[in-house]
Amino acid sequence: MNKKLFVTGGAGFIGSEFVRQGVQRGYGMTVVDKLSYAGDPARIKELGEKIKFHKVDIKDRQSIEDIFKKEKPEGVIHWAAESHVDRSIDDASPFLDTNVKGTQVILDISKKYEVEKLINISTDEVYGELPESGQFYETSPLNPNSPYSVSKASADMLGRAYYRTYGLPVITVRPSNNYGPWQYPEKLIPVIILKALRDEKVPVYGKGLNIREWLYVSDCVDAVFEILEKGEIGEIYNVGSGNEQRNIDVVKTVLKLLDKSEDLIEFVKDRPGHDFRYSLNSDKLSKETGWKSSTDFSEGIEKTVKWYVNHMDWVNSKIR
Ligand code: NAD
Repeated sequence: MNKKLFVTGGAGFIGSEFVRQGVQRGYGMTVVDKLSYAGDPARIKELGEKIKFHKVDIKDRQSIEDIFKKEKPEGVIHWAAESHVDRSIDDASPFLDTNVKGTQVILDISKKYEVEKLINISTDEVYGELPESGQFYETSPLNPNSPYSVSKASADMLGRAYYRTYGLPVITVRPSNNYGPWQYPEKLIPVIILKALRDEKVPVYGKGLNIREWLYVSDCVDAVFEILEKGEIGEIYNVGSGNEQRNIDVVKTVLKLLDKSEDLIEFVKDRPGHDFRYSLNSDKLSKETGWKSSTDFSEGIEKTVKWYVNHMDWVNSKIR
């Protein structure tokens, strides 16, 4: 097991949950994060001296190398990314810079310092969209449709190329849509909660019929630890929950939990190139590690809504 970990994007939504769980599991954690608009050290503040934190951009090769030289990490978990599809439609540049060139820096330095394992976090969006039926397998072709998913597919394939070409011990992980506490309030579920609590219209793209597979954030992180500990070098693992929901149904569930009227729903012009449905087959991960998502959607969404209701100061500090 790789005890000394180097974690990128550890002040982000999922990365911070990974860092919290890592400390509980007894790993040594060196965390780098540029603290973009989406990064917030408040998410990991409670951990204090239990982790080493560096405010560093992953594109800053020299600083990343200096940290590797000092810390000599055994494992690397690469979460850092520009992550919001709508922003990538407005401007693809930061996505290509961080997600592709930044990933290259992490791969190069990991190779130079001979890490024992590198978990390259990709996404289900690299596969493109599905119709009403069918599932994506690890062997399905990549067919990304947004600048975000193209940048993630590039990073995903770059990791695999470093494994093939240089023998860098890369494992690729493709999780489905995460939700839970601490998600930046520009993503669907926190936006619904925020708008509803303010009695503002809740915007829903198109007719709200797009389907996503919702994975509770701590389940996703649990899967990544299973993969870190038991996964095969050079392999790809899908991480899905099986909890598929239409966006409109997610909105209605949240409104119901908050005791708000469905009259708040406002259908808006669809996102350009909006993928209709994602659905992962995660049998490989379950067979090899025994992992299964343990939080069903009704339980996870209730916990999430409660968390936001109790942390509105944080949410309001992000979005005025
Ligand atoms: P997030 O936007 O909440 O966090 C990203 C973190 O990366 C932030 O803390 C940000 O400050 C940091 N960062 C951005 N650019 C950086 C740079 N150049 N250098 C250093 N740090 C930088 O994203 P998230 O939702 O937590 O996603 C984490 C990872 O998981 C991403 O790679 C994302 O593509 C992937 N993923 C997310 C989901 C999801 O539903 N959220 C699903 C599948 C895969």
